[in-house]
Formats: sequence, C-alpha cells, structure tokens
Amino acid sequence: MVTTKIIEPAAGAYHYPLLIKSLLLSGQRYEPNREIVYADKRRYDYRTFNERVCRLAHALGSAGVKAGDTVAVLDWDSHRYLECFFAIPMIGAVLHTVNIRLSPEQIIYTMNHAEDDFVLVHDDFLLLMEQVHPRLETVKHYLQLSDDTPPATELPTVGEYEALLAAAPGHYDFPDFDENSVATTFYTTGTTGNPKGVYFTHRQLVLHTLATATSLSAFDGQPLLRSDDVYMPITPMFHVHAWGVPYVATLLGVKQVYPGRYEPNALVKLYRDEKVTFSHCVPTILQMVINSEAAGSTDLSGWKLVIGGSALPTGLAAAAAERGMDLYSAYGMSETCPILALTYLRDQERGLSPDQQLTERVKTGTAIPMVDLQLTDDAGQPLPHDGETVGELVVRAPWLTQGYFREPEKGAELWRGGWLHTGDVASIDGRSVVEIKDRMKDVIKTGGEWISSLELENLISQHPGVNAVAVVGVPDPQWGERPLALVVPAEGSLLRPADINEHLQRYVDSGALTKWAVPGEISLVDDIPKTSVGKINKKLIREDHHR
Ligand code: AMP
Repeated sequence: MVTTKIIEPAAGAYHYPLLIKSLLLSGQRYEPNREIVYADKRRYDYRTFNERVCRLAHALGSAGVKAGDTVAVLDWDSHRYLECFFAIPMIGAVLHTVNIRLSPEQIIYTMNHAEDDFVLVHDDFLLLMEQVHPRLETVKHYLQLSDDTPPATELPTVGEYEALLAAAPGHYDFPDFDENSVATTFYTTGTTGNPKGVYFTHRQLVLHTLATATSLSAFDGQPLLRSDDVYMPITPMFHVHAWGVPYVATLLGVKQVYPGRYEPNALVKLYRDEKVTFSHCVPTILQMVINSEAAGSTDLSGWKLVIGGSALPTGLAAAAAERGMDLYSAYGMSETCPILALTYLRDQERGLSPDQQLTERVKTGTAIPMVDLQLTDDAGQPLPHDGETVGELVVRAPWLTQGYFREPEKGAELWRGGWLHTGDVASIDGRSVVEIKDRMKDVIKTGGEWISSLELENLISQHPGVNAVAVVGVPDPQWGERPLALVVPAEGSLLRPADINEHLQRYVDSGALTKWAVPGEISLVDDIPKTSVGKINKKLIREDHHR
C-alpha cells in the first residue's frame, strides 16, 4: 500500500458528493431559454424543466415514494422521461428504465427481480400492465403518463402525471446523500437465460456525464455536442439511459428534442423542423432513417451522428456520407454505462479524403477520458497494442456496473482479476485506436481458421446491391462451422447470391480475405431479425438455422 499525504478537512468544510442533482446546476444558468421539445406535442424552456423536476419529486413523495424505493418507467422517449432521469434519483430512489420491447414474461421477470415499488406507465402500455399486474410481486401503485385524455384503468393509480405536477409546488430542496447510492438500474438483453440487472450509482453517472461531455465537446477531432447544438436521441431512453447523453445535454444547456415512439418519417421531419444537429443510434436505425420516404426529400447534410451498439458497416457509412451525414462510431455495453470509446479524427485524419476518412470513422474509436482499455490473452496476460494482435478487450473505468443485481456468480464472471471482461475480441493500434473484430460468441470457427462475422458483414455491405447484411456461423459436419450470410437487397436491385460470391472473391484474390470466409450459403431475405434494441439478433438467426 502506498502511503500518501491526507490532510484533515477544516471543521465545517463541505464534502461535496457527486450527485445527479449537481448536473442540473449549469444548463439553466447558461441557457435558461433553450427548449426541451416532445415530438409535436409540447415544448418548454430550461427554467420550466427545472421547476417540473421539483414538481415531479413532490408528486412522487405524495404518492408514497421514498428514498431507497425502485421506480419503474415505461414510456416512449419524452420530456417526462427526462424529468424522471433527474427527479427519481434525486429523491434517493432508483430509476428502473423498463425495456418496453421485451416480451411480457421478460418484463414481469425484470420488474419482479428489480423489486419495483412504483410504476410510471404511458397509456400505450396500460393494457400490458393491467394484464401483468397480478403477477408483479412488489409494485404497489401506478402513475399514468398520458398524451391525451387519460383512459380509465383498473390499476391502483395515484393519478395522471400532468395533473399531479400542476398541483405540486415548483421548488424542492433535494437532499444530499452518499454518492455511492444506486441511481439507475436496467436489464441486459440478447444473451441466453434471464435478463441480468446492471446498476449505476450517482457518482458513476456524474463521472460518465463529465467524461462524455468532454469527449463530445472539448477535443478538436470531435466537436459533436456543444451548447449551441440541437440534440435528438434515437437510442431509446430505456437503452442504457440513451447512452447517458440526455445528462450531458442537460449539463450543457442544449436544446433537446424527444421524438416519442420512433417512426422513421417522423424522426426525419423532427430533424428538419427542429433543426437537429446531433443524434446517436444503432446502425439498423440509421438504415431505416436513410431508407425512409421523408429522407428522400430532406437535406441530411451536416447531421452529426454517433453510431454504436454494433459495428458500423462501411457500406452503410458510405450511404450516409453520400447524404452528407457526419458519422462517428462509439463502443460500449449495458454493463459500462455505456460509453467507453469514440471515433477521434486526429490532425492527419482530418486531412484525408472522405473515402479514407470513412475507414477511420467505422473503426471502433479511442477510449474516452478516464477509460483504460486493454487486450488480454486467454490466460489474462496483457497483449501488445500493435494493431495486429487480437485478444479479449478488458476495461477499467469509474462507471462500470459493479456486478449483476442479486446474481453474484454472474458478476464474478464479468469481473475477473479486477478487470471487466467485455467478451469482445479486438485489436488496439499504436495510436490507441480500438477495432472490435467480433463478439467472442459470434466469431466463426471454420477448419483451423477464426473468421470475424463483422469483417464479412463489412465487406458484403460494400456491394452496391446490398441494403443490409448479417453473417453468423452455422454448424457444419466437416468444418465445425461455416459462415451463413443473410442479405437484404437494396430497393430495385437485381442482386443474386452469386454476385456476393464474386464480390468476396475479389478480396480473396487480393489476399485480404481467406477463402474459408466466403459463406457457404447466402440467403436473400426481406428483413433481418433484430433484438429489442434494434441490433442484429445473431442468436435467433443461428437458432432458426438449426431447426
Ligand atoms: P449491449 O450490452 O446489448 O448494448 O451490447 C454490447 C455489445 O455490443 C458489445 O459488447 C459489443 O459486442 C457490441 N458493440 C457495441 N458497440 C460496438 C461497436 N462500435 N462496434 C462493434 N461492436 C459493438
């Protein structure tokens, strides 16, 4: 143990806890008139926002919610959700952002597992809650979130959001408490078995916000979200707090646009009408936005987008760049709050041609401040950062979930030797640029070779006749596994599987691809199965192919 110098604080000195309430101080101070917009339904300024956070805190208190309780929210992306991001943790309760895309059985499981006490539910999910209510073991009361006249319900409700806020006082003295108190919780998706609960403390969310704000606004290579930008998330607020960016936007006093339920044409219309400049989403949503009818007649140039949650295929990035969109990649996981790395264009890269820049922009990025990303081999030994060596990515950062809620064995699998194990295979080059090659469970093992499903998707995505592609390994009696590609042809294209074969053969001939990587089967499909957060559902594709 290192012996350091610790000085006793002065009597009366204040030990400032890192609490979410501290993120609310600056935005309204700098930009009180900036707006928070809810689709085409509502808009108000930061002063009103702060007042409404206080009103919500009172309304929750009057409904019996107290510090230490867990409060679930089922809503589309809205101003209300943003208010919940603040008011619920600020009274010392835990915000459970329920994944409304899960099956009813999984929703019941997660709400019971999280021990939810109180639920805020949008009218669109009222029927669902009425059906599952008898099986919810800990929920006592509900609060209705209505865009129109609230429908009658048999649920034990305490009232409707707007009516309760209107009746509550506009000032609240938010208490101080331990910064290590849990602020938020939600459940990971897409793996085998039951969803697992991750949780983040006030301290973690504050530090994640500060580091993300720094990396999105302070560095030359990525001036993405500054106070005069207009922010619209296209990553649901239940999906890792919309990647934590609403906290950053609020800290900076940015105009924020919450789009409600995602509909591609409506998203493009909001982008145009509200003059949105910055968004983030998974690649499949970007694809839907670009393919939408409204996008055909809208100038998308200058729209800065961070694409994460899955690798950004070069073909899709090129299509977006053609429309003038300014794309960056980000990497993270539910377990990591989530942001770990982001594209950084250095001086040299900024001088490159758009095509060359694309190669940089689709790489996974550089670790953001305070994040330590390392590569390890199977024995946990460090591997060199030479851009060639491939190993498992492990991480340390101040904002990683410290385990899975009530599942210590799974937490111990995630955390080994003081490092969080991402389960991702990657390389890191001499410039600290990380490149995710694949998830360990998605790597295709054929003969003696390991093939990256992401690399294959990336190459196939560059064929002009391809709209979207997914590659998985399927069992093969001779080779162990062989790649299977599902390809959605671009509209109007006469693409044949043989065209993909020819396209890949060129990479084989040039030595860029091993011949074993050419898929044994290429299926042209109308759609690719997606997970509840819009990522390619490789597990389901593999299962479908086993049947
Ligand atoms: P989830 O926790 O469901 O959000 O999934 C996290 C996983 O998504 C990571 O472990 C990666 O496998 C994958 N992922 C996230 N961002 C990227 C990225 N930029 N490139 C490649 N894979 C990514």
